[in-house]
Order: sequence, then structure tokens, then C-alpha cells
Amino acid sequence: MAFPQDGLLRSKDALPSLVRALDMGVEVVGGIPHYERTMADGAESVRILTEVAAERGLRVDMHCDESDDPCSRHIETLAACSQRLGLHGRVTGSHLTSMHSMDNAYVAKLIPLIHEAGVSVVANPLINITLQGRSDTYPKRRGMTRVPELLEAGVPVAFGHDCVMDPWYSLGSADMLEVAHMGLHVAQMTGEEAMRACFDAVTETPARILGLEGYGLAPGCRADCVLLDARDPVEAIRLRATRLAVIRGGRIIARTEPAHARLDLPGRPQTVDFWNR
Ligand SMILES: [Zn+2]
Repeated sequence: MAFPQDGLLRSKDALPSLVRALDMGVEVVGGIPHYERTMADGAESVRILTEVAAERGLRVDMHCDESDDPCSRHIETLAACSQRLGLHGRVTGSHLTSMHSMDNAYVAKLIPLIHEAGVSVVANPLINITLQGRSDTYPKRRGMTRVPELLEAGVPVAFGHDCVMDPWYSLGSADMLEVAHMGLHVAQMTGEEAMRACFDAVTETPARILGLEGYGLAPGCRADCVLLDARDPVEAIRLRATRLAVIRGGRIIARTEPAHARLDLPGRPQTVDFWNR
């Protein structure tokens, strides 16, 4: 797609290229409003992109407010546009790290709007904790969006991996349990229920946000799943459990042996049973 010289999706200029891409079978409309040169241009890009999505019945996932600037408020425009255009359940705001630094009084009004507009949120704990707060001295902000507060308000919140191996983040392993582990720590979601919510944030919630059909452990579902060597979701996150089997369409396509350690210590058992520690 040909973008203008500064590489940004300058709303009006890029529209013909956008429409050509849509004609090629695009399913989700993206955007990165905080990269526009002014707040007004960013808001305009959100308006144009959501209107295109509404006209064509597409989903929207915007890279939105990935910034420590509390004045980066494009999520407000995104929610308002979703509300106005009736895009409920089809719009996602990804990152939303500026919400970490926003004034509490403003957020008290913003979160209900996000909820009413049916907008979902994707936080990306690995990259958020790595990139945000870089220009701070001390104390350094964590920068991840307000996960517990959004969940509390009824907003679907998923955790994404975002970059896996690139100049911004070179330590990715595409391991969603690692993502849940980091998200849990950064959001301080250490209660029993909160830890389970972190597991949902890398499984059921993103499936719902993506609109996947046939997802889940019920007869008739697609049988795309990963068998974890763990007794429950919290243990899976705690141990980043071994993936015993990867199943796609009902067929095992990868297997790993269970973790097994042999001890050589006088008076101690020879093996460790990872199930009964
Ligand atoms: Zn990203």
C-alpha cells in the first residue's frame, strides 16, 4: 500500500489505498491514531476508519494510545465512534497505555463509555512493561492499561503478545502463558479469581474478541487446542506448563514429553513428580 512520505496514514490522502486494500479481502480495519501529527488528525483518522468499517461490516482493531502521554485520548474517540455507528462488539482498542497515566477523574468517565460502546481492550504486557515509562527517571511508570478496572466495569480485556522478535522486543517466544504470567504480575492480579481471569485473557476472551466460531471445549467445537501439563489454569501460568500436545482440527500435530527431573542427592527421592509437589 502506498503511504504518503512521512509514512503515516494521513487520513484523507491514504483513503484510496485503504479502499483498494479492502477490496482485496481485508477483514479487520486497523489504525494508529497517535502517530498522526496532531490530536485532531488522529481523531479524524479514527472517524474515517470506523465509518469505512461500518459501511463494509468489518471489525476494527486500532493500535491506540501506545504512549505515556495522558493526553493521548484517541480511545475516547474510538469508543464514541463505535457507539454512534453501532459497532458494538466489533471494535478493539489495543495497547491503550496512555490510560495508565491519565487523570482518575477523566478515566472515571472514559471506562463507562468504553463499556457502553461495546469496545474490547487488548493489553500487551511484555512490550508494555518494556517500552512504557522509558523517559521517566524514578519512579518509573509501568505503563500497562488499567486491566482490573476495565474488567471490573465489564469490558472484555485480552492479553496479546504483540511483537515477538523485532527491534522493539527480541525476547518473545510466542508463549501465551508467558504473556499471562507477565500480565498478572504487572497488573498485580494475584487473587485466585484474578489469576484465572489472566488465563481467560489469553484463551476465551481473545477468541470472543476475534469472533471465532466453534471455539471451546464442547461437542461440535473445532478441536483446536493445547493440552497443558497442569491441574488448573493458575498452575499452568505458575509453571508455564509443558505443552503435552497441540491438537488442530482434532489431530495431534505436536507432542512434548512431560517435564521429568532425576535427582542425585543422598536420602532424597530419585525423581520428581511434577503433579504432586
Ligand atoms: Zn504493537
